[in-house]
Amino acid sequence: MTITYPYKSNLYLNITNRCSNKCTFCMRKFSYVFLDYDLELKTEPSKEEILEQALKKYSGEKEIVFCGIGEPLIRLNDVLWVCEKLKEKLKIFIRINTNGHVKLRYPNRDVVKELVKVIDSISISLNAENEKKYNRLCRPAYPNAYKKMLEFAKECQKYFPVTLSILDLPEVDIKKCQKIATDMNAQFLIRHFKPVFKSK
Ligand code: SF4
Repeated sequence: MTITYPYKSNLYLNITNRCSNKCTFCMRKFSYVFLDYDLELKTEPSKEEILEQALKKYSGEKEIVFCGIGEPLIRLNDVLWVCEKLKEKLKIFIRINTNGHVKLRYPNRDVVKELVKVIDSISISLNAENEKKYNRLCRPAYPNAYKKMLEFAKECQKYFPVTLSILDLPEVDIKKCQKIATDMNAQFLIRHFKPVFKSK
């Protein structure tokens, strides 16, 4: 089970396989093996284990990225704690890749204000140009997930750089998605849907 893995110029942290989406295109449907890393977590690592692994494996990468396979902000408290320690020890740039549902999971917390203290940027999966398509593609656990994800993105954009990402699936209207990002001054990222996952 892999908690940390280098990829391109970054060090990625895989801290949970849980997610509030069930995307039709999720890699979990194919395999948890990414390159040579088995990202299936039999048990989730504690926050102390995540920190220990990150410090052990860090070798000068540009960014540390909370990614998964899964939604890292499901473990909001642990993410905040690990980020704080990493900032103290490495003074490293930290990004979170998220589905943007965190305010639905923690409705009574000022999540963005908590994040702004410890992260440098966020990448949010937009995935579709409207709610109907989002619900069909991502099958979120929350009925108002698309609206709340966009609200979260707009709020984040006031404090740190936001990237809205999509996959280049045939049914996604890339131009409309790009306009959503442009209208909120967010960066826009098109990921190519080509699983590089290998079977176990
Ligand atoms: S948000 Fe990511 S981890 Fe969650 S189901 Fe979709 S692709 Fe999978």
